[in-house]
Amino acid sequence: MCESVYIAHMESTDIALIGAGPIGLEMAVALKQAGLDYLHFDAAQVGHTISWFAPQTRFFSSNERIAIAGVPLQTPDQGKCTREQYLAYLRSVVLQFDLKIRTFEPMVGIDRDNDGFLLTTHPRGGTRQIRTRRVILATGGTAHPRQLGIKGENLPHVSNYFQDPHLYFQKNLLIVGGKNSAVEAALRCHQAGANVVMSYRRDQFNPNSIKYWLLPEINGLNQSGKIPAHFNTLPMEITPTHVLLSGPDGRTIHIPADFVLLMIGYQADLSLCKLAGIELDGPCQLPRHDPSTMRTNVPGLYVAGTVTGGTQDQFTVFLENCHIHVQRILADLTGNQPPAAPMTPQRPES
Ligand code: NAP
Repeated sequence: MCESVYIAHMESTDIALIGAGPIGLEMAVALKQAGLDYLHFDAAQVGHTISWFAPQTRFFSSNERIAIAGVPLQTPDQGKCTREQYLAYLRSVVLQFDLKIRTFEPMVGIDRDNDGFLLTTHPRGGTRQIRTRRVILATGGTAHPRQLGIKGENLPHVSNYFQDPHLYFQKNLLIVGGKNSAVEAALRCHQAGANVVMSYRRDQFNPNSIKYWLLPEINGLNQSGKIPAHFNTLPMEITPTHVLLSGPDGRTIHIPADFVLLMIGYQADLSLCKLAGIELDGPCQLPRHDPSTMRTNVPGLYVAGTVTGGTQDQFTVFLENCHIHVQRILADLTGNQPPAAPMTPQRPES
């Protein structure tokens, strides 16, 4: 069967907003309430990055810090929000403000065009083109998993996404990495009855990197041998049954593994920044922008949300300290003074 390909009539809008994560949605509400003309796109569903968290994962950030658009975020037990509760909250925000979002319509082209941009999208089975004067990129900072670049990394029992802990029940699970994703997955899978072993490239878990409510538990379970950790090791190869680790003294350790979780972090998808001509600075590839207006070096193009941190090594840009981007962009679009810098939480993600 032949897939129909269509090019719809050329649309035009004043502002194109790309990305429907929390900051993209908060931006959409602000644009709508200001009566500005905009179209909103996402390559996948609303809150896509959050949708691949393991079931019942709780945010580290407290609810008031991740609430958006002035809508209170309540949870039944007053605890921190779970993945499921937050996705339901985001859907409610979309419904409450009647936001129109072109989900599953990936943006594939951003070209300069007279005094604005010519955008190209690829919804299923077709191509659309949109003329716009301004573009706001709110595409997030963790689109793709980091890769190890070793043999066996693409085997079916190897994943960069921590799934339901039930999957690993009474199975040998090797977790690679030593920060919060790795430690949280190790604790949850151990509690769910998996035989968890960790491989971490450093000589211990860093107390400054691991959440203070996770650290004593992982250290205790490690010291008691219930979650053994091979420090100073790196995976060299993954086979269908084992992982070969290189140890500090050059010896190879063979770890039996039914499943392998590579909790080694994620990278921002900066392809649209590059297409649009935004300069990317330093090893983290920070999109160059003026933090008081969020204007990039490309006239008419703004960045909002965690994409502003590029691919982060040491996390400093979180959802909770990006809300101000919305007010800064709105002020710039409407010709108002940028808002004063807010108080930043001493301990983000808590
Ligand atoms: P991360 O902080 O970037 O940690 C990646 C880990 O992988 C680090 O231990 C790193 O080692 C290791 N690593 C990186 N490249 C490697 C390589 N090539 N070979 C071997 N090891 C490698 O990523 P993350 O733990 O996924 O955390 C990302 C963000 O999400 C953080 O802000 C975190 O707090 C947050 N988070 C939130 C929740 C939640 O809200 N429930 C849960 C998990 C994470 P080094 O330590 O040597 O750098």
